[in-house]
Amino acid sequence: MKILVTGGAGFIGSHLCEYLLNQGEEVICLDNYFTGQKKNIFNLLDNKRFEVIRHDLTVPIFVEVDQIYNLACPASPIHYQRRPIKTIKLSTLGMINVLGMARRCGARILQASTSEVYGDPKEHPQKESYWGNVNPIGPRSCYDEGKRVAESLMFAYRKENNVDIKIARIFNTYGPRMAFNDGRVVSNFILQALKGKNITIYGKGTQTRSFCHISDTILGLVKMMAVPDLIGPVNLGNPKEMTILDLAKKIIKLSHSKSKIVFKPLPEDDPERRNPDISLAKKKLDWEPKVTIEAGLEDTIKWFKRELS
Ligand code: NAD
Ligand code: UDP
Repeated sequence: MKILVTGGAGFIGSHLCEYLLNQGEEVICLDNYFTGQKKNIFNLLDNKRFEVIRHDLTVPIFVEVDQIYNLACPASPIHYQRRPIKTIKLSTLGMINVLGMARRCGARILQASTSEVYGDPKEHPQKESYWGNVNPIGPRSCYDEGKRVAESLMFAYRKENNVDIKIARIFNTYGPRMAFNDGRVVSNFILQALKGKNITIYGKGTQTRSFCHISDTILGLVKMMAVPDLIGPVNLGNPKEMTILDLAKKIIKLSHSKSKIVFKPLPEDDPERRNPDISLAKKKLDWEPKVTIEAGLEDTIKWFKRELS
């Protein structure tokens, strides 16, 4: 199987490339290194079944493949908010480019959608049938609305051109290879804890998220791609919900840190609760996360410690 992974030099993308290569597949990684890093795929370069294309997906490209995982998109709020127009272009023009490619070569395409399509949800836990509560003009809208139109484009290409589509709505994923400057909560807290700096909680820390270890997310994505008759959207996330304050305490404890917790202003439109209903993934994919938050954080702390030294 020849597989294209857009955003393959990013956090999730690089783990996915590695997993697919280990399964014996031929993998093409496409990335413009906006948030991805060459060092994430450095260990894969010797593999004869691995190729890398430096390309900005907002510009059309044609590659002959059997499957496409479309992951290209900055996922961290600080990065997508730094370039909101580019982010919207990627989810619209980029999506059209990659869907056109899927149509021309008859490839199956899986879109990495997000829990952000639910915005600041009013229903808990979030089922795939929930339409969400998104501020269309807020600071997160370039990402949230972009991902929503990307889902809409996927369905339009299926309807008009019979493209073989799959939509996975990924919830907060963490693990080794998160970028140091990523700005998301797990990497921020771990780096602060390891460096003995203050742990910066935005708001009161009562907001919740549900954190899924990267190894579980990868298995979910691959399973989703493999089943023939499931279009989705399907939630992929860990159903164990926790407050940001609890996460901070856990990271301080697991990293044996002396860091103090400090409270900073809550960013605008920061979702209050987020928790996936994963009954659909359990039923159709026989998938649910296996890594506990303690084991996952330990693994991630160990990786950050090694990188720091
Ligand atoms: P990431 O920022 O580490 O990876 C994104 C990759 O896309 C990077 O390598 C980046 O350089 C690349 N990219 C950005 N713009 C591009 C462009 N114009 N052309 C080509 N490549 C481009 O983020 P991630 O956490 O690995 O997320 C990967 C995907 O999963 C994203 O689509 C994201 O929206 C989705 N997702 C991630 C999470 C999460 O918790 N990590 C949650 C929900 C959805
Ligand atoms: N957050 C925090 N301190 C940080 C980084 C993030 O308290 O240093 C909070 C953030 O306000 C949000 C939660 O942690 O409520 C998750 O943030 P992240 O950026 O990781 O992901 P998202 O908001 O997209 O789920």
